[in-house]
Amino acid sequence: MKRDPSCIFCRIVAGEIPSRKAYEDDEMLVFHDIAPWAPVHVLMIPKEHLTTFYDVTDAHTAMLGRMMAKAPRLMRELGVTNGFRTLVNTGADGLQEVQHLHIHVMGGPRPWAKG
Ligand code: 5GP
Ligand code: ZN
Repeated sequence: MKRDPSCIFCRIVAGEIPSRKAYEDDEMLVFHDIAPWAPVHVLMIPKEHLTTFYDVTDAHTAMLGRMMAKAPRLMRELGVTNGFRTLVNTGADGLQEVQHLHIHVMGGPRPWAKG
């Protein structure tokens, strides 16, 4: 599986940087954001290093579909039953800070810190 040793999220996948995990399987990891915007704020990432949304090809559609299908079930499991936001920041103009594809999933009662 493609990995970038200097990438902070690849290092989280490898267990070199600790994270609070919400879900994990062979192809994806979900962990709680270190600076949450909402009462529940998780990041869903492919374990494979993909820098941005632009790097997604047809080879990734099944994995991305499984990630999107996992999001609502996981939010329910985390107690989020009144709605949530799903966000993918891409590239410079998309204000992407961490260069490993990730899907923000944010929910829980308002008010939120951000968003
Ligand atoms: P972006 O702006 O790239 O879409 O969002 C990156 C997100 O990653 C931010 O919400 C930030 O708080 C989160 N983040 C950055 N570094 C870490 C880390 O080391 N651990 C965790 N759990 N979240 C991180
Ligand atoms: Zn990475």
